[in-house]
This record gives sequence, C-alpha cells and structure tokens, in this order.
Amino acid sequence: MKCRVFSVNDIITPVSVIYLDNNSTTRVAPEVVAAMLPFWSEQYGNPSSIHRIGQAARHAVEMAREQVASLINAKPRDIVFTSGGTEADNLAILGTLAAYPTKRHVITTSVEHVAVHSLCERLAKEGIRITWLDVDRQGHLSPDQLAAEICEDTALVSVMFANNETGVIFPIHEVAAICADRGIPLHVDAVQAIGKLPIDVNQLGAALLSMSAHKIHGPKGVGALYVGRKTRIRNQLVGGHQERDIRPGTENTAGIVGFGEAARLAAHRLNTDAWQRVAGLRDKLEQEIIENVPFARVVGDSSLRTPNTTSIAFESLEAEAILIALSERGVCASSGSACSSGSLQPSHVLKAMSIDERLAHGAVRFSLSAETSEDDVRCAGQIVREVVVKLSSLQTT
Ligand code: PLP
Repeated sequence: MKCRVFSVNDIITPVSVIYLDNNSTTRVAPEVVAAMLPFWSEQYGNPSSIHRIGQAARHAVEMAREQVASLINAKPRDIVFTSGGTEADNLAILGTLAAYPTKRHVITTSVEHVAVHSLCERLAKEGIRITWLDVDRQGHLSPDQLAAEICEDTALVSVMFANNETGVIFPIHEVAAICADRGIPLHVDAVQAIGKLPIDVNQLGAALLSMSAHKIHGPKGVGALYVGRKTRIRNQLVGGHQERDIRPGTENTAGIVGFGEAARLAAHRLNTDAWQRVAGLRDKLEQEIIENVPFARVVGDSSLRTPNTTSIAFESLEAEAILIALSERGVCASSGSACSSGSLQPSHVLKAMSIDERLAHGAVRFSLSAETSEDDVRCAGQIVREVVVKLSSLQTT
C-alpha cells in the first residue's frame, strides 16, 4: 500500500481570527518577511566564508546586529545571537555559573518564565542554592528583599523585566542598582519588554539581557543575549568561533536578518504613540469585561504593566473551557495553566501571587499588539462576556 506523504501546504488553512495572544507569539511583519526572503534563496552564503556570497551574508548579519543593539542602546559587539529567548536565558545563567565556578548561589524570582524557572529548579537539584524571591498579590517584587539575600557565594541575580502572564513590570532599575553596588552580575529576561518599553542597557547597567524576535513581529527560533563588555560568561555549546566564541554554530542568517528588521520597526514604533493606543484598547477590553461580568477580576497591578497585557480571572470557571469556547467563536487568547497528572494546575506565577485557587483556575491572558483594532476589541469584549456568562450558567444548572 502506498502511503500519502503530506506536505505542509496540506495543513495550512486560511483563518480569520481576533488574535489576542501576542505574548505567545506575533504575526511576522510583511517588511520582515521581505527582508528575510533573499537569505533563503540567492543570498545563501555562510557568513564565515571569505568569498563574496559569504561576505554578503556576513554584512547582513552585522547590519541586523546594529539594528538589535540600537533597540536597547547597546554596542553591536555586545549582541550575541541565539536560537531564541529560552536559549538566551539558559546561556546567561549556565554561562555565568561556569564563569564563576566557586560560587554556588543564584537569586531569582518565583514568577520567572519557565526558561528561567525550570532551569533554576534543575540547578537546585544539582546542588546550586537558589533563592526564590516572593512577590505580593499584585505581582510586586521588593528590592529590599533582594538586597538582603545577596551574599559572598552569589554568582548571579536573574530577574525579568516584565511578566509574560500578567504584564507586571518589575523595579528593574532598582534591582540593577543594588546588583551594581554589591558587584553581582544581573541577568534580565527582557523578552516581554523589548519593543514595548524603552530599554537603555547603558543606563540599566545589567550584565546580561535576553531577547526574542518572535514577540516583536520577527521570526520564531531566533533571539539574542546582550553580553556587556565586562561580563564574564562561558560558552555552553562547543564548536566554531561564531558570536565571539560565546555561541558557536553557523548563524541563522535569514532569522537574524528578520530579527534586525523587526527590531528596526519596533524602535520606530517606540517613537510613536502606538503603545499608548494599544494600552487604551487593552483598558477598553478590560473595562468591558470587568464592568459586565461580576465574577471577573484583573490579576496583578493594573497601573504598572506592559501596555498590551491583561490577565483576567473568571471565578469558578476553568481557563481551558473558556479558551476552547473563545476559539470556536474566533478569539485567540491563552492561559498559564498547565495540565499535570490529569488535573489542571494554575500557573506557578499565579500561585506565587497567592491568587485564590477558584480565581487562578479561570485566569485568561489577553495580549494585544500594534495590529489590534478597535473593532477587534469591541467584538472580543462582547464574545468574552457571552462565553463566560454561558459557561457560568451551565455550571449552576
Ligand atoms: N522569557 C519570557 C519572559 C517569555 O515570555 C518567553 C516566551 O514566551 C521566553 C523567555 C522564551 O522565549 P522563546 O519563545 O524565544 O524561547
């Protein structure tokens, strides 16, 4: 019997949705696609090759490095391209521990993305002492608590800029000042902050800062780690001399070019009122839901958030049921819940914020982008209301 071999075209279906899941990933901007295309066809050179076609690829990679550096006011040489935010986070933490082999203590927070959280859990099992800084019910971090935990043995402090589930922004400048004062390297996971908030690494003074392209309308599978000039770090992959020996491996030229173009567009957007408009739409959506659904609550500090994010908890409902019903009506959102051993567990972020279980199980994240329209928000608000009211009535009947 002959098996049919499927091509990817068989599974692509045209979809028209209201996309409110931009913290998961964003649509690749048309300008980014256009910039990348030649590097998958005629510009196929290896950036390490001496010949013309290789040097054309090298030139493109270096231009992208300047564009990404410019988004955070870094020097181009301080940008190390990686396969994404997860690799940048892993490289920052493991690379620092390897560079300070006598130090066995890492300070982080209890609400980091799993790229940091799960790595630190593993390191704890391997004998590294991890201090998990608590947050309050609003998602706030206390810099004083951080200062009290730093000791002789501390190799690194790893704190995110903005939370991926709630959007809550940490007092990262205060954290950086404490680390600088105590001479401890600081790693900042800025994956959800770049392009949405102005970032100046010179002012911040962090040793390391993680970024990812696909959160800013760039391609998936490419990111970068900012590695300050005086930062001590050891490569975790072993191979060629690419990326200052910190991250060997033939560069993902097309992906890097796409990241560069996405960074250029994001830097331009930061100089406009685009995010103010997005914050206004986010607030409208939130208001529409909160004012009309008596069992809905906003999770986290609503005054100190990234402009595109709201996490809304619907008491006594399951987020998965809401997400499936929303998806059927064409609205894409997400939750931080994870299915473990048959039961749906609220995310470690909401647990750390001590959010009541009955609320945490029903927490849904809506994340907008500069592409979100008034109409999207109006329709989504109405659909969310209808869906949760229906689910709630099904529960009580
Ligand atoms: N850090 C944060 C805060 C994130 O939100 C994400 C992705 O959602 C990552 C790290 C991982 O980035 P990537 O998907 O590029 O591996």
